Parts: sequence; structure tokens; C-alpha cells
Amino acid sequence: MIFTLLGTGCPQVDTRRFGPSQIVRHHGATYLIDCGSGTTQRLMAAGATGADVDAVFLTHLHSDHIVDLFQLIISSWHQGRDRPQYVYGPKGTKRYVKGLLKLWQPEFKQRIAHEKRTSVAALGAEVVEIKAGEIFHAGEMMVTAVVVDHYPVRPAFGFLFETPEARLAISGDTTYCPELIEAARGVDVLVHEVYIHRGPQPSMLVEDPGSRNVQSYHTSSDVVGRVAREADAGVLLLSHFVPTRFDEEELLQQVSADFDGPILIGEDLMNVDVAGRRVLSWGMSLALGKQPQAPKPEAKLRATQKTEAVPRESKTRTRHII
Ligand SMILES: [Zn+2]
Ligand SMILES: [Zn+2]
Repeated sequence: MIFTLLGTGCPQVDTRRFGPSQIVRHHGATYLIDCGSGTTQRLMAAGATGADVDAVFLTHLHSDHIVDLFQLIISSWHQGRDRPQYVYGPKGTKRYVKGLLKLWQPEFKQRIAHEKRTSVAALGAEVVEIKAGEIFHAGEMMVTAVVVDHYPVRPAFGFLFETPEARLAISGDTTYCPELIEAARGVDVLVHEVYIHRGPQPSMLVEDPGSRNVQSYHTSSDVVGRVAREADAGVLLLSHFVPTRFDEEELLQQVSADFDGPILIGEDLMNVDVAGRRVLSWGMSLALGKQPQAPKPEAKLRATQKTEAVPRESKTRTRHII
């Protein structure tokens, strides 16, 4: 299982950190998690395209996580996709996608008539509104949704991606969340959002309740290390930085005070081999701490329990990133 950060930012516009988005690749399948600003450009830079995406998983419906969904759909069509996007998201996703496609109907009609492409299937989407629990199963890959605490946004999910060899947890947007910690216990890699907390700033708290509220539904940098420790994560990979510019040294010091394991400050286009706990980027292969010993028996057992129809898999692009 190869995990790639596409965008590690937040609503703030930053050319170094695009909007929140990431992919999981396994055995030729590509799964996209969230679709923030710049997703399609980053997909291509990562050696994939929207046409390759087998399923899209949305953690929640905040605009920074879904704003490029239409761009994904239309660009995938231009890339020759001949099937709809399969979208898994919280309640409200159907309404959002339906409205989005309706809004662009005049554009679709004009393009279909003028460009005369062989298929129009890619201009649609099949949406599954999810609840907590197992939501997807394809071959060895199983995806579980966990309700997280991003109040007042409800529901909001984190996801677990599991194969017999690898376990990956993605927090989505959340404040400290015991349910996520429980579900993520012992994962190889925990991808977690972080709000950069610079200590008490009384003037900000008094004068800027907006900032205070933003912090209240994210996980502060003085808390996220504790989350990784309690989850017994193999590697903590930080992403979704609020704000996008910060003192990295200070952040590492803060987080490592609570977590002894490897801590990665995520970068756009960083690849991680989840089972091997290795960074595969920029021409290097960097092992992160002790390697796990054997496949997780529980994940293996669960992965064989259920089989269901899944979207067909696309050609593998994984070789481009190793
Ligand atoms: Zn967000
Ligand atoms: Zn959010």
C-alpha cells in the first residue's frame, strides 16, 4: 500500500501546500481521499490521473475538502475516462453532487454535442452516503469509516485503509477524538491533521474569536503527539496544516514531547510505503524506525470476510513513484 499526500494545506491559499487531498494505491487501484484545491494537478504530478481513480472518499463536506470535485469529474472525462466517479461521503454528499452536476448541465450539453467523445459515462457520479463502519471492500483492501469530532460539522469521518500487510489511518478534520484513537490502535501510519498552537496568545483569544473557533475543531500541535502515542501508531504523518506556514523545528519539538515514534511533517507529493514504514520520495527510500514483523492477523481475517461488487480497477501507476 502506497500512500501519497497530494495537498497538505487548508483553506488558506499556499503554492507549497495545496488543498487537502491524498491517495492510496494498492495492486493497481487508486483511491482518492478528499478533493481539495489543486487535486487534479497534484494527481498528475504523483503519476496518476482522475481517469485512474477507482473511488473517492470524502471525510466531510467542508469546501476545502471537496472544492475540486467538479474539476476531477470534467478533467477525468477529458482524460478518456469511461465510467462515473464512485463517491463515498457523509450524508449530504448526494445533494452536493447532484447540485454540482445540475449546475454544469449547460456546459455538459455543449461539450458533448461539440466534442463528440465516445463515452459520456464519466460526466456522472455514483454516490454512496456512508455511516460508521466498513464502507468499502475490494480484493484485499478494506475501508472503514470512523466518526470524528469536527463539531459543528456533522457527520465528519476519519478512514482506515487496511490490507493483510498494512494499516493506515487518516484522521480527516477532528479535534482530539477517543473513537479515532481506538480505531487506529497499532496502525503502521497515522495521518493526522494539525493546528499549529503557539502557546497562549491572550490578545488573539480576546480579539479573534474566529481563530479560537477554528482551533476548537482541529487538533492542536500540543495534543497531536498524545493522539499518536495513545493510538500506538508506528509513524505519525502530519498534514492539513493550519496555518500552512509555521516553524517546523518548533512543531517537531512540541509533538515529540508526547510521541517517541517517527514523526513526519508531510509535504505535498510525499509517498509512504505503509507496510514498510518507509518514505519513498525525492529519490530516496527512508526507513522510519523498526519494521513491523508480520501481517496483522486481525486485518487478514477481516479482509477475507466479505466480497462485493467493486468498480473495476485501473492500470497501475505505482511504479512511477518508487
Ligand atoms: Zn479542512
Ligand atoms: Zn473541516
